[in-house]
Amino acid sequence: MQEEAFVLLGNKNLSRTPCRVEMLKVLLDSGSALSDAEIRSKLPQHFDRTTIYRTLRSFLEQDVIHSIALEGGDVRYAVTRHKDQNSRQFHAHFFCDSCSGVYCLSRASFVPPEMPDGFVASGYDVLVNGKCRNCN
Ligand SMILES: [Zn+2]
Ligand SMILES: [Zn+2]
Repeated sequence: MQEEAFVLLGNKNLSRTPCRVEMLKVLLDSGSALSDAEIRSKLPQHFDRTTIYRTLRSFLEQDVIHSIALEGGDVRYAVTRHKDQNSRQFHAHFFCDSCSGVYCLSRASFVPPEMPDGFVASGYDVLVNGKCRNCN
């Protein structure tokens, strides 16, 4: 995970601050998307909220991670794994009705709707509901 975290930071020309590295390791380690509270609880105690919040913002701005907005204002974060520039939000997510786990689905698993003439899509938000492997 350390290695992968270094590569992701390097790709975005972000320096390897301890908080960035640890936060990426937490997110890479997790099979599902995490809320900020979950991320905080898995990070070493000594990082303060401001540092964590700032790191989260810079990761979002740089597209190192992306956010998934759920009903009720709940937000989860996951590492952006797709290399190509425009893929930021171009994959669907899975929401488990039993454990509330959120997972990124591979890009190929969803066909984006065709755009009418003159319309340009900048992203889409698709949430597939069901039961995850653990709950099924
Ligand atoms: Zn589940
Ligand atoms: Zn995702």
